[in-house]
Amino acid sequence: MQTINTVTGPIDASALGTVLAHEHVFVLNEDYRLNFLPDWDEEAQVAHAVQRLSEVKALGVDTLLDVSVPGMGRHVERVRRVAEQAELNVLAATGLFTYSDLPLQFHYTGPGLGFDAPEPLVEAFVRDLTDGIGRTGIKAAALACVIEAEGLTHGVERIVRAVGQASVATGAPVIVHTNPHTRSGLIAQRILSEEGVDLRRVMLAHSGDTGDVEHLRHLAEAGSLVGLDRFGVDLLLPHATRMATLLALIDAGFADQLILSQSAFCYSDWFDPAKMAELAPNWNYRQIHERVLPELRAHGVPEETLTTMLVDVPRRFLLGANEQGLPTPIR
Ligand SMILES: [Zn+2]
Repeated sequence: MQTINTVTGPIDASALGTVLAHEHVFVLNEDYRLNFLPDWDEEAQVAHAVQRLSEVKALGVDTLLDVSVPGMGRHVERVRRVAEQAELNVLAATGLFTYSDLPLQFHYTGPGLGFDAPEPLVEAFVRDLTDGIGRTGIKAAALACVIEAEGLTHGVERIVRAVGQASVATGAPVIVHTNPHTRSGLIAQRILSEEGVDLRRVMLAHSGDTGDVEHLRHLAEAGSLVGLDRFGVDLLLPHATRMATLLALIDAGFADQLILSQSAFCYSDWFDPAKMAELAPNWNYRQIHERVLPELRAHGVPEETLTTMLVDVPRRFLLGANEQGLPTPIR
């Protein structure tokens, strides 16, 4: 029996089922919350999140991968409270989220630095995956890092290499938040390959923000999974273009490397909720099931292909190629 760690404990891999492989529950920096968010209501926000994730469950989703790592205010005990009540499998991730600089806690300490030490990021990430996060006992199931338009800054390179080393040490898969307009997925592939990571276990997130199918084919041909994971974020790319990209990649035979998700959240301190509702009214957890799947069916895409993208690809990503489970159909 192969198991996978969720925020509520290990589950049999066969229970993964239909997976939304790039979502968030809370994006909430604790320093910000304690100092600048006087109206935060913990109980109301947990209750709201339980309602949202219960809706996700009702759509037929079994598992949600919460890619909110430190830098986005990861708080796995809060997520555990929500997951328990929503009865949804929620997987946690480890890594660091930044576009440029490392947090100061890591800035001065590391190989060759003033406080010379083995890379502390690797140790931190491996501990999250193997011993658990803090004292919660909750173990991360995946690694996540970022290469944005700022490119491979010194801080970002340290994180990506540490994520690669932690992946090799533990077998955990890697999500890289990329920017397809600056083609940072290519940089991610190069650095992670140099660290010995199998690119088939690397998901290049936010690839679907472009209509440049040639670029995405190129990324997929190197083995990586291509994240079409911002359905609903119409202000970054219209839905019709996202669908055209998806259909083109399916037609080109890449369905078994595609991840469908929304990168939605119950709460994010990045955006004013009222402004969000106005600028991105479709940014929610329901886009794949209520909008994308019906449109794919209308285009004649067979059910097996939908199962491939929502069940088989995430499972292979999370568990690796050794897993021999039979696919379960989408409910
Ligand atoms: Zn995201």
